[in-house]
Amino acid sequence: MKVKNRKVSGVGGKGKCSLPPRVSHLTFHDIHEECGVFGVYGHPEASNLTYLGLYALQHRGQEGAGICSSDGRHMNLEKSMGLVADIFSEKRLKRLPGYIAIGHNRYSTTGSSVLKNVQPIVANFALGSIAIAHNGNLVNATELRKELEAEGSIFQSTSDSEVIVHLIAHSKGDDPYNRIVQSLRQVSGAFSLLILREKELIAVRDPYGVRPLCLGEVDGAYVVASETCAFDLIGATYIRDIEPGEMLIIGEHGLKSIKALIAPRRSFCIFEFIYFSRPDSYIFGGQNVNTMRKDFGRQLARESSIDADIVIPVPDSGVPAAIGFSEESGIHFDFGLIRNHYIGRTFIEPKQSIRHFGVKIKLNPVRKLLEGKRVLVVDDSIVRGTTSKKIVKMLKENGGASEVHLRISSPPTIGPCFYGIDTPTRQELIASSHATEEIRKYVTADTLAYLSIEGLQKIVPDSENYCTACFDNSYPISFPGEHLEQMEFFFR
Ligand code: AMP
Repeated sequence: MKVKNRKVSGVGGKGKCSLPPRVSHLTFHDIHEECGVFGVYGHPEASNLTYLGLYALQHRGQEGAGICSSDGRHMNLEKSMGLVADIFSEKRLKRLPGYIAIGHNRYSTTGSSVLKNVQPIVANFALGSIAIAHNGNLVNATELRKELEAEGSIFQSTSDSEVIVHLIAHSKGDDPYNRIVQSLRQVSGAFSLLILREKELIAVRDPYGVRPLCLGEVDGAYVVASETCAFDLIGATYIRDIEPGEMLIIGEHGLKSIKALIAPRRSFCIFEFIYFSRPDSYIFGGQNVNTMRKDFGRQLARESSIDADIVIPVPDSGVPAAIGFSEESGIHFDFGLIRNHYIGRTFIEPKQSIRHFGVKIKLNPVRKLLEGKRVLVVDDSIVRGTTSKKIVKMLKENGGASEVHLRISSPPTIGPCFYGIDTPTRQELIASSHATEEIRKYVTADTLAYLSIEGLQKIVPDSENYCTACFDNSYPISFPGEHLEQMEFFFR
């Protein structure tokens, strides 16, 4: 679906355009799935490896995590809110015996971060037990849920992923693979899915291939992960990606691949390269994320370099692009902002207000490097503009920079993601309603430049295979219901 960008006024929802709340009632889409999945087949320490895999994928979700294992006869599940290392003690992992396991890291925005939404989701039905771990966002889940509820399904959670479980339970026939395929043909959106049955592990990727999913091998066992950084930690070797539309059954007879689902095109998420995946990962056909980000920075320098004394990144997400920018422009690179990595979810703010407290708790400028300098600061993206505004101010007031030039290693973010990246509503995306010069004024930078969409497409091989909806409003997977209402509201 191609839609034209329509200008609306207002920064961060404070403008003239008064919009209805994005969703007035609780639906699946209160929860934005940014998740990591990991699975093992054929290893005596399946749950220990899954624990390590989830640990390496912690950046994909910090709200909660779970592991479900099978010894060929029984399944066991352990899940909690919190970080992987805090959830899984040795004692807890001992309660997950077996040679097959799947795990899930969950991220959710406010409101629905509750244990019942933490995965894997386990269900028992006519053909035995299944557990599923899902990364991605289904765009027709609300509609499917209504239909399923009308037919008598009782949902345990508000997660869109539970729809898949109910569809499988409702589907007919004796062949479990057929039931899974029939169910997945009804869902629309992004899914990199791991399904655990008593004696097998099934990996499925949506036919557009929106989220990554990789296959590896360790000690003769198969492993599947959202990103290859999870393989490195356990010494696994990357074999290949699970192909878009592929259902890979991993069981006692080895691998069985079924071309299960088809789509008119591929739509790998470009934002995995820009922000979401870890730089040491190889995704979407074995491409290194760090290399890609550095190349974005180089291209950005070719497009918008300026006379400056120092290039600094906004850590951590801006680091590779800033290095690329520095290499291409010849401007000296250094770490002018230091990040505190140990910030919990909340902190107690002192009663007496401290200037820039919110950003200072996370980042602090190195005045010695910046004082009196023309500073070029590189970040990967601007969403609402609040972070950039605070950073520019901080670099000037606390860092003593004489000028601050902001460079962004992606094009302006103008469209929300409905396929699994947590983005705010369109009205909150500053670039959906403001030109670059207006944003520059808002963030009080001396200059501001984004990577052009053409520049981005030049860097990414086979760029026509990528979803760039957040930058061009060209949504490859059409959506019914509330998403469409939201789009239509803006593009009427
Ligand atoms: P904002 O203050 O809303 O403009 O946020 C911009 C910052 O958020 C940048 O430093 C990005 O690295 C970071 N960012 C971009 N996308 C996301 C996301 N989906 N989740 C969390 N942080 C993000």
